[in-house]
Amino acid sequence: MGKQEEFVLRALEERDVRFVRLWFTDVLGSLKSVAVAPAELEGAFTEGIGFDGSAIEGFARVYEADMLAKPDPSTFQILPWRGEGPATARMFCDIEMPDGSPSYADPRYVLKRTLSKAAENGFTFYTHPEIEFYLFKDTPQPGVEPVPVDRSGYFDHTAQSMGSDFRREAITMLEAMGISVEFSHHEGGPGQQEIDLRYADALSTADNIMTFRTVVREVALSQGIWATFMPKPFTTHPGSGMHTHVSLFEGDRNAFFEAGSEYQLSKTGRQFIAGILKHAAEILVVTNQWVNSYKRLMWGGEAPSYICWGHNNRSAMIRVPMYKPNKGQSTRIELRTIDSASNPYLAFAVILAAGMKGIEEGYELPREAEDDVWSLTERERKSLGIEPLPRNLSDAIAIAEGSELLAETLGEHVFDFFLRNKRKEWEDYRIQVSAYERDLMLPVL
Ligand code: GLU
Ligand code: MG
Ligand code: MG
Repeated sequence: MGKQEEFVLRALEERDVRFVRLWFTDVLGSLKSVAVAPAELEGAFTEGIGFDGSAIEGFARVYEADMLAKPDPSTFQILPWRGEGPATARMFCDIEMPDGSPSYADPRYVLKRTLSKAAENGFTFYTHPEIEFYLFKDTPQPGVEPVPVDRSGYFDHTAQSMGSDFRREAITMLEAMGISVEFSHHEGGPGQQEIDLRYADALSTADNIMTFRTVVREVALSQGIWATFMPKPFTTHPGSGMHTHVSLFEGDRNAFFEAGSEYQLSKTGRQFIAGILKHAAEILVVTNQWVNSYKRLMWGGEAPSYICWGHNNRSAMIRVPMYKPNKGQSTRIELRTIDSASNPYLAFAVILAAGMKGIEEGYELPREAEDDVWSLTERERKSLGIEPLPRNLSDAIAIAEGSELLAETLGEHVFDFFLRNKRKEWEDYRIQVSAYERDLMLPVL
């Protein structure tokens, strides 16, 4: 056992920890948890905790179901909402096969594998997510339109807004778990909030997003309200995105920064953007994985519908924020497609892989979109070479099916499972008769 494992074992005694939750994530991005007694932990570190992988969404074929969860000691944290003495702690796990090799189905491993490929080329990948979500007054009931906790809008701070109390408590809890928050504010929809995490390496950020979702749901429950990361809960209000700022570092130098060039963007930065644009349609099924995700993307508002980039253009899919010349280290790009209900491990893996492809192949960056792309006509967009994103899950699946980049990044097993699962979701959805159709047609037909 290493030093970190020993530190954890000591912390268990000092903090009177009675339960340790071992966390991991299934292929669709749901958090899984198994609680073990502290006495089991030494064994968990050395051998792992066995479980039946075939019961986890996307993990195993039935004939090779045995898997092991091995806790990562660097992720040890006490869960603040479970109280002190006796306390409950958690660690994220890596999933292994019985022979000790990493599980091909573990999303955390998919990300780690992609990060090591970038590391072989000298790059570390940093991410900073802006996480949007809605707060409702009550637990959702089937067939009932949810009621937001307030009627405030963007950056509002009013006495009737519950949001600021909620955000204060959620942020206090996140900070207690070592997750730094940079900004938070009310978002555009009623009851809609945004909390932005400080940038960190992509693996820590993905772990932090999983923790974030749990914390936000726990705080909501403790206040008798309901939090949702559903991409588009209302027809007439904005959806919840998870705009993510990304950058590559070479050692402690920001590889996207070049003093004096346009938007201070280096060749590496330009090629990275070009890679994401070129493969945007192929990876969309991962960054925006639900039928409902496409209702956010195709609604307008501030979610992107077209494949283009710009610097101060909020209709663009990728935005390059402007910085003062002395802020070179902050040079980054903002990807605006990804939503709050994606699997962050898989989403970061495919974004990085697409960007790295741009660098490897030396892709040229297309011209910047200077106009509001929604206000252009179809013909104007065509002449500028601006293509639409896939308009629904079915179109996104069709493009993903032919993607070598996606198959290679996710690995054959996750690629097959994921697309099979998504095809089923689309088929189930496609045959639904909705309240919209009945309201429209029954009175007149
Ligand atoms: N809610 C918007 C979206 O769906 C983003 C609003 C903003 O610019 O922060 O992407
Ligand atoms: Mg926002
Ligand atoms: Mg943003």
